[in-house]
Amino acid sequence: MAERHDNLIDGEWVKGSEYAPNLNPSDVSDVVGDYARATAAEAQAAIAAAREAFHGWSRSTPQQRFEILDAAGTRILAEKERLGTLLSREEGKTLPEGIGEAARAGQIFKFFAGEALRLGGEVIPSVRPGVGVEITREGVGVVGLITPWNFPIAIPAWKIAPALAYGNTVVFKPADLVPGCAHAIAEILDDAGIPAGVFNLVMGRGSVVGEAIVGSPDINAISFTGSVPTGRRIALACAESGKKVQMEMGGKNPLVILDDADLDTAVSCALNGAFFSTGQRCTASSRLIVTEKIHDRFVEAMTDKVKTLKVDNALKPHTEMGPVVDQSQLDQDLRYIALAREEGCEVIGGERLNRDTEGFYLSPALLVGANNAMRTSREEIFGPVASVIRVAGYDEALGVANDTEFGLSSGICTTSLKHASDFKRNSEAGMVMVNLPTAGVDYHVPFGGRKGSSHGPREQGAYAREFYTTVKTAYTLA
Ligand code: NAP
Repeated sequence: MAERHDNLIDGEWVKGSEYAPNLNPSDVSDVVGDYARATAAEAQAAIAAAREAFHGWSRSTPQQRFEILDAAGTRILAEKERLGTLLSREEGKTLPEGIGEAARAGQIFKFFAGEALRLGGEVIPSVRPGVGVEITREGVGVVGLITPWNFPIAIPAWKIAPALAYGNTVVFKPADLVPGCAHAIAEILDDAGIPAGVFNLVMGRGSVVGEAIVGSPDINAISFTGSVPTGRRIALACAESGKKVQMEMGGKNPLVILDDADLDTAVSCALNGAFFSTGQRCTASSRLIVTEKIHDRFVEAMTDKVKTLKVDNALKPHTEMGPVVDQSQLDQDLRYIALAREEGCEVIGGERLNRDTEGFYLSPALLVGANNAMRTSREEIFGPVASVIRVAGYDEALGVANDTEFGLSSGICTTSLKHASDFKRNSEAGMVMVNLPTAGVDYHVPFGGRKGSSHGPREQGAYAREFYTTVKTAYTLA
């Protein structure tokens, strides 16, 4: 029997009434472990513990918060190989990607340890004589954190660390598919001395644990990352009950490649943006918008790369792309690849693969001859699938790039300062990249999108305080 992993509620490791196996998508015979699935009552107990703990934690010193978060960050960095291996085993991204993501989580904890010390306020002269005005920030209360499966350690880190740094208490529900990294973070915080109830882990299903968090009057704010339909449902429920809410959702990110681009740079950006992490990134380049004169050379060079990219077990040393996360995501990818053919695209790659171990292997797919009206160009597929859309020139490319309901990330490959500057100004996305992949961001600056991709304040960097704190204005007559 696989090792059992429990939830952390009010400082205690609580045995589950039900456990679910966490399967390795590179090898479904490999069970990473059995993980407790919380009931709604256990979620309520976690929320009650977090409510109880808020008074003390919100009054803890910045030094106390710094020390716990810094210790957690140090430990994550020291154990990045172990955590990265766990991540690659449960989610399927390659080992270097898994280790890189674990390291990023450690850096995020250390950054927010510092933010606990840096949270200042303002003193502003009053318009009235003898009166002083101070503006300060305080934690918002009990925060519910709901995360997706595709970044099992980085996304939890970029929600948990700022929530705790600014004096909130936390009820954290990771995606049911990837409880392993979430459980590892909980162990690390517990070992670092987080007081009982301040941080609670409730693994389980969205329909049970997620709904209990969203529906609870004791939760003050919800930070959610995941799909648009789930996000919109949660946002509506939060609006009704008056909870503060932050949503990071899907993308259909454009990468524009202009005639004057360096071809090697363009191919490397497209390959990385579209297919690394098996294309399962909200910031993936799923629309490659290519101008006339470079189009055929670009498609030829991409075809060579796509055909030789090594798709295999995430833990093997030479693997360049791991498997899709599970059967249902694989089915979705294959449905969209079939649809692309019906819509008139030439599909390069996109084939189901067999490897030494039984897993969800798919070769990367390039949809050549796409246009921006096709469903495959408009809907988020969330797999290693990218449309190639041919356009006449820069103006059309910008129009097509912006013609989407999403607005998370965008990119342009060009050697023209004029076009790069214009694209940075006029791209309707929260993050814009020049000669870089649309995915891959720094950990100390804001992250987030516009339009249908996001709702509420930005995550990460010092901007995270907008969501995790509330402002108080105090007047004193001296
Ligand atoms: P999802 O299906 O929306 O699930 C996200 C989380 O919400 C999971 O923990 C899920 O629980 C939970 N959930 C489901 N139903 C719920 C409900 N009724 N109430 C409360 N919580 C509920 O998304 P996913 O498939 O995990 O992730 C893929 C999506 O995430 C893609 O659309 C991707 O673009 C997006 N994403 C966005 C960003 C960004 O920053 N913009 C980053 C990464 C991923 P279960 O565990 O039961 O599923």
